[in-house]
Amino acid sequence: MKIPVSKPYLTQQCLDFAQDALSSRAISGLFGEYVEKFEEHFAKWVGSRYAVSCSSGTTALHLSLIAAGIKKDDEILVADLTNMATFFAVHYIGAQPIPVDINDRTYTIDLNDLQKKIKPSIKAIVIVHLFGQPVNVTDVRNIVGPKVKIIEDCAEAHGSKINNIYVGNLGDFGAFSFFGNKNLTCGEGGIVTTNCYESYEKMKNLRSLAFSKTGNKFHHESIGFNYRLSNLHCAIAFSQTLQANSLISKRISICQNYDHLLQNLEDIIIPISTQNSTNTYWMYHIRLAAPISKLRDKIMQLLANEGIETRSGFIPYSLQNKLHKLKPESIGCTNSKKCAYSTFYLPTFLEISEIEQEYISNTLQNIIKSVKKEAINGAI
Ligand SMILES: *Cc1c(COP(=O)(O)O)cnc(C)c1O
Repeated sequence: MKIPVSKPYLTQQCLDFAQDALSSRAISGLFGEYVEKFEEHFAKWVGSRYAVSCSSGTTALHLSLIAAGIKKDDEILVADLTNMATFFAVHYIGAQPIPVDINDRTYTIDLNDLQKKIKPSIKAIVIVHLFGQPVNVTDVRNIVGPKVKIIEDCAEAHGSKINNIYVGNLGDFGAFSFFGNKNLTCGEGGIVTTNCYESYEKMKNLRSLAFSKTGNKFHHESIGFNYRLSNLHCAIAFSQTLQANSLISKRISICQNYDHLLQNLEDIIIPISTQNSTNTYWMYHIRLAAPISKLRDKIMQLLANEGIETRSGFIPYSLQNKLHKLKPESIGCTNSKKCAYSTFYLPTFLEISEIEQEYISNTLQNIIKSVKKEAINGAI
């Protein structure tokens, strides 16, 4: 058996819409209706007033931060454990990210550490709904106060909800990715949701080279970006949005099946879902506990030998020595550091079969059993 770690799921409708864009030669954003259709439907699905499509989750974050009014040297709080794209977007502006620790059971921002790090100079916070577990943004708002802009990194959390409100509609901006391994995908792509009309207009303008909206379009209004998403990509993203609820409930049931299959396995720690939230999981993450917490790479290799592809977890910003000069003792972030080298994820994709899931959990249990024995005997 050979099981990949992820695989995009495209229905016939996706292929039909893409074919339609191709046959009508509406491949860029110049012609065709899919850009607007995608944006309209995505905003409606999330429950926000506006949505602006763009080339990736990273550029969605960049556009959000600019629309939030973030400038060079502004101090921004950012959840420490994430895809580094979250931090890169802050660095593109020349702003100063300050990492905030995570809770080691939910993997989302730790409210105690947030309380310690909030100060009057903070202009914005980027929270990350990591691995599909939504952050309770009301709690965050209560700590940071009304003036701090809240940007939700929703790249891994399409469809996640708190008290029945979708992520992307909880803070000031929601930045989503449509990369090939995300909950919804069109290969490469992104979208920003907001309820602020001014920000919406600004992001739409900046995304497409900041052409002038009045008079001669080539008198540009400012320095723009080409962060456009093509009509061809939007055709696929639109179909995925129309089918979002069924795609996401399938992902949830796959991950709940893993929960069930692995429930008796000691030595692994599985992220918990908080009350009143809908966790959409993204990928099924596992953290190894002592005495095998340092044996992740070996376990991943042994799984690969049995045809099971896995991926290691993120390394937090606090441990990225090449990206910042923050002093280790001033950063803290002990929980995210603890996760850095002991987490990985199992194959999580919509076409995985129950038999494959059973094979994966049985193989994992056997490998952990033998590796643990060796670890206890001091052999490794
Ligand atoms: C994937 C991801 C991004 C970046 O999205 P791209 O579309 O790859 O640019 C940002 N943040 C998180 C949490 C992600 O998982």
